[in-house]
Amino acid sequence: MRTDSTPNYSDVVSATGFLRPRASRSMASFQEHLATSHRILALLGAGLSASSGIPTFRGAGGVWRTHDATQLATPTGFAADPVLVWEFHLERLEEMKNKGPNAAHRALSELASKNEQFLALTMNIDDLSERAGHSAESLRHLHGRLDDLRCNMCDLHLSKTDSAAALEPLLQNDSSTPLSLGDIPRCPRGECKDGLLRPGVVWFTEPLPQALLESIAEWIGDENDNSRRIDTMLVIGTSALVYPATAYIEGARKRGARVAVVDIEQEDPSLLGLAEQDWYFQGDAATLVPVMLGYLP
Ligand SMILES: [Zn+2]
Repeated sequence: MRTDSTPNYSDVVSATGFLRPRASRSMASFQEHLATSHRILALLGAGLSASSGIPTFRGAGGVWRTHDATQLATPTGFAADPVLVWEFHLERLEEMKNKGPNAAHRALSELASKNEQFLALTMNIDDLSERAGHSAESLRHLHGRLDDLRCNMCDLHLSKTDSAAALEPLLQNDSSTPLSLGDIPRCPRGECKDGLLRPGVVWFTEPLPQALLESIAEWIGDENDNSRRIDTMLVIGTSALVYPATAYIEGARKRGARVAVVDIEQEDPSLLGLAEQDWYFQGDAATLVPVMLGYLP
């Protein structure tokens, strides 16, 4: 019987967190793994669009600095001052129109077109992935899209065409003429008397749409079903530390996935819960992602 008091190495490692194995930074080993990956899940965050010059929602500058998120992006903020909320979102829409997709958007779009077993979950509310050619079947907007409109009173969601038609006069509005309540489009349903149209994004305090979560859960599938193994999970331009990243990473891991994180922020991979089998690449998504995915423009 062994009686030595040498501690089990892995217990020591997990107890202190200090000696945890670090994620790999080897591009070659990632590319080798990707080449044999069949099912791939990607989570895309603000850092991806930041590479195109779109500031993060909270990072909006100018006059918006004097307002907080509860005034600009919550249902109560909209009820209190729909004009202010629309002005804020119109500026985001203008910004989106003036910027274009970058090489990372295009590389992901190409991966989607080559791989039927690929799904990208984006937390971005812009349309840069679509403009890079990413097909709707393999892209889910967790937080909705700025240019999709819906009613703030009833369950009406406008089609792309109707949303564009309703937005056109707002976007053409000369910024020297302040927006007024009368400019805000009304719900087209006759029986919905007080309904105002609002941007179809998920605001703070709002839950993610149930039908969307269900469609994602359906793609991810049962963890005991071997045909639903996930080979690779890409986490691009977002911290892997916050919900929903944590939940989707955990789900992918249970299905066998190795995780690759791309973030411009310097993060400690051990704090991200990454292990030796994972990858961590620090830097600009538009530079790193095309290399990772072998995208040749
Ligand atoms: Zn309505």
